[in-house]
Amino acid sequence: MCGIFAYIGKNGLAQEIVLKGLKSLEYRGYDSWGIAAVKKNGLISLNRKTGKIGKAVLRSGTAANIAIGHTRWATHGGVSVKNAHPHLDCKGHLALIHNGIIENYSEIKIKLIKLGHRFLSDTDSEVAAHLVEEYYAKIGFQQAVIAAFREFKGLNAIIVLDARNKVFAAAKNGSPLIIGKGINENFLASDAHAILPYTRKLYF
Ligand code: GLU
Repeated sequence: MCGIFAYIGKNGLAQEIVLKGLKSLEYRGYDSWGIAAVKKNGLISLNRKTGKIGKAVLRSGTAANIAIGHTRWATHGGVSVKNAHPHLDCKGHLALIHNGIIENYSEIKIKLIKLGHRFLSDTDSEVAAHLVEEYYAKIGFQQAVIAAFREFKGLNAIIVLDARNKVFAAAKNGSPLIIGKGINENFLASDAHAILPYTRKLYF
């Protein structure tokens, strides 16, 4: 069972808060982890590592108001940095974290490769980033996340970060994902206790 934690606020501390959130989800078990944050210049900063979070320190100079993080329990593709989440789309505008198994990922991957998408990992998860990218141009970010998620077979949860608009969107159909509404800040996590230090307004 992987862990998911996402944060949007105004204090420049998004990465630190996500790292703390991931640490509180460590009990779920994982083999690698990663965080994507949107820097002030609108580009995505990606930190991915194998092994335990331990005393990890994040790259300095990356004050961010929005970030997503993931602890991975590998199901498709070995334990490596390239397979750790978040995964990016071709242009590096989107970052995605995923919990579950996309059972029909190989047929979607073949379709996307024919359309020109380049894959960098061996995971089922990366297809989600590229499928959202594919739909984005035609129907916009939020509808693209919904349309992509509807194509997946299996029990899954995804969070997609749109760096250009500094927003994220989530979809789930079985894997746990809880929304926390704070004051000038909002949270998403796979377990309520990771959000409770910040707000009691939870939506299951
Ligand atoms: N199936 C995905 C992978 O192997 C996600 C695993 C998880 O839920 O951590 O990367």
